[in-house]
Amino acid sequence: MPTSTGEFSDFVVVGASLAGLRTVEAARRKGYAGRITLIGSESHLPYDRPPLSKAFLDADHEPVAPRFRTAEHLRDELGVDLRLGAPATAIDAASGTVAVGDGEVRYDRLVIATGAAARTLPGTEGIAGVHGLRTLDDAMAIRTALDAGARTVVIGAGFIGSEVASGARKRGLPVTIVESLDVPLTRSVGLEAGQVCAELHHANGADLRCGTGVDGIVSEHGRAVGVRLDDGTTIPADLVVVGIGVIPGTGWLEGSGVALHERDRGIVCDATLATTVAGVYAAGDVVHWPNPLFDDQMMRLEHWTNAAEHGAAAAAHAIDPASAKPVSSVPYFWSDWYGHRIQFVGVPQADEVEVVEREPYLALYRRGGRVVGALTIDRPTQIMKLRKLIAQRASYEDARAFATNLPAVRAPQPVR
Ligand SMILES: Cc1cc2nc3c(=O)[nH]c(=O)nc-3n(C[C@H](O)[C@H](O)[C@H](O)COP(=O)(O)OP(=O)(O)OC[C@H]3O[C@@H](n4cnc5c(N)ncnc54)[C@H](O)[C@@H]3O)c2cc1C
Repeated sequence: MPTSTGEFSDFVVVGASLAGLRTVEAARRKGYAGRITLIGSESHLPYDRPPLSKAFLDADHEPVAPRFRTAEHLRDELGVDLRLGAPATAIDAASGTVAVGDGEVRYDRLVIATGAAARTLPGTEGIAGVHGLRTLDDAMAIRTALDAGARTVVIGAGFIGSEVASGARKRGLPVTIVESLDVPLTRSVGLEAGQVCAELHHANGADLRCGTGVDGIVSEHGRAVGVRLDDGTTIPADLVVVGIGVIPGTGWLEGSGVALHERDRGIVCDATLATTVAGVYAAGDVVHWPNPLFDDQMMRLEHWTNAAEHGAAAAAHAIDPASAKPVSSVPYFWSDWYGHRIQFVGVPQADEVEVVEREPYLALYRRGGRVVGALTIDRPTQIMKLRKLIAQRASYEDARAFATNLPAVRAPQPVR
């Protein structure tokens, strides 16, 4: 089949979510005119995950699937052969094929964008009322329980668990959040900002219990009725949301020749997102890569913007490897709790975290003489300017001068 790049004709993408879709879109934008096959294990059309723990749980909104594109758009505009509902199960690098269901799909170039799955709490499989939150189906189950007025326990005070707690509180439902760390989110944003985020839970009526482990789920007739903590107390619950992190979607790649990270089995890529198998790239939450902007620190991010940026880069590099460039990126994520927008740019590992403003909150992260991170609450446009400064490797003093001269912003009031 002729292609405008003239070099190959079979482009396969495994993982039909954000990174996979952005890969496909970028390939077409770059002028690739050959076959594209997009393989997704879920039966749904590609959809956006961030709304699942936000608007989708809101009683004021209809639970509409946040789809990126229609089937017609994917087929007619992007020319994609969409294969949904069955996972890819293996790669054969020698023959250049991906195994799916009973068949095989040939590839010249392959992008793996299989993201991650929610980590489960051992021993809770099959108990009704216990859910992770990664997929549309998870979100639907959680929404249904909230609609029924569930007493909710969230295990893990990470961003997704915190958003679920916020959604439940907005409905006036009782929520307990159980967190094993003494301060939540320290790995993501550091101790100081973690404390500020924890305060949002207290101010909005969620019962946040830190430094507490979970001993087990109490169930009756196969349905959760409570969560037993390691201090001996049991919290009654109709809905238990487990937010204890994710596992990269790479079980199917064991033995394929694609190198996996020794700790979490994410895919180890070089700076251009190439894997250890020729012609195979990776993108999104599944990837570890050395980020040149932070001294080639190996990173695996679970952020929307990173997945989108990776998809575009992986497509460009797969199509034209000769002009592949290292993917340099300032990590960015946001999270919405209790009517507040928390945003973080950069990395939290710092020599010092300075709180520049308390209300609305702005903190800067310094490593040596450089600004490496910033966290804001309710300063949505300002954080993007700080992201730019980090991308430019600005000095800490320049970032501080910028941050201390920002115009005043009014903080929204808590939901309750
Ligand atoms: C509830 C929720 C809220 C979030 N909120 C925010 C937010 O506010 N801000 C932010 O920055 N980020 C947020 N994120 C993170 C963001 O959504 C992810 O970073 C992004 O979805 C990653 O995209 P991805 O395509 O790399 O992986 P994923 O979205 O995980 O998609 C991977 C896809 O690959 C499929 N797959 C897996 N294995 C196979 C296989 N073998 N064969 C075929 N298909 C396979 C999976 O089923 C899945 O559909 C949120 C995530 C969730 C779950």
